[in-house]
Amino acid sequence: MSASDDRAFLQRAVALAADCLTKPTDGPFGAVVVRDGRIVAEGQNRVTQDNDPTAHAEVVAIRNACAAENTFHLAPGAVLYTSCEPCPMCLAAAYWAKVERIVFASDRADAAKAGFDDAFLYDEMPKPPGERKIPMHRMALSEADDVFQAWIDKPDKIAY
Ligand SMILES: [Zn+2]
Repeated sequence: MSASDDRAFLQRAVALAADCLTKPTDGPFGAVVVRDGRIVAEGQNRVTQDNDPTAHAEVVAIRNACAAENTFHLAPGAVLYTSCEPCPMCLAAAYWAKVERIVFASDRADAAKAGFDDAFLYDEMPKPPGERKIPMHRMALSEADDVFQAWIDKPDKIAY
């Protein structure tokens, strides 16, 4: 993948972000997934129009790419181009999808200036679970252990 290819795909992601401005809702974010030098899928932010807080452009693009390729991960060779540095959720989604490389235009500081500040998420992640803004409490249940044991023993599982 040459730098000019990267630029063209990234410009497409930014064009998708700009297109969000033509709609009454949704923040201006766009993303594309590329494999083997071609766009497999695109995504735009759909949070408010879908009432889906997880519908960030990158997640939408990854979902669309997996649907288009009929797979639950995009390895090998998928590149995620996104108009803005992925938030922690989208970054994690890229890892789960086995994206090989991410190219972004605006960074988290640019997003914060526009009112999309995800710094609090980066601050929350390293905290011990009990000290996060969303309190987390472990309650061990033997039933939960049984579910994992059944999975471990399941002969026909699809590993991912
Ligand atoms: Zn995100």
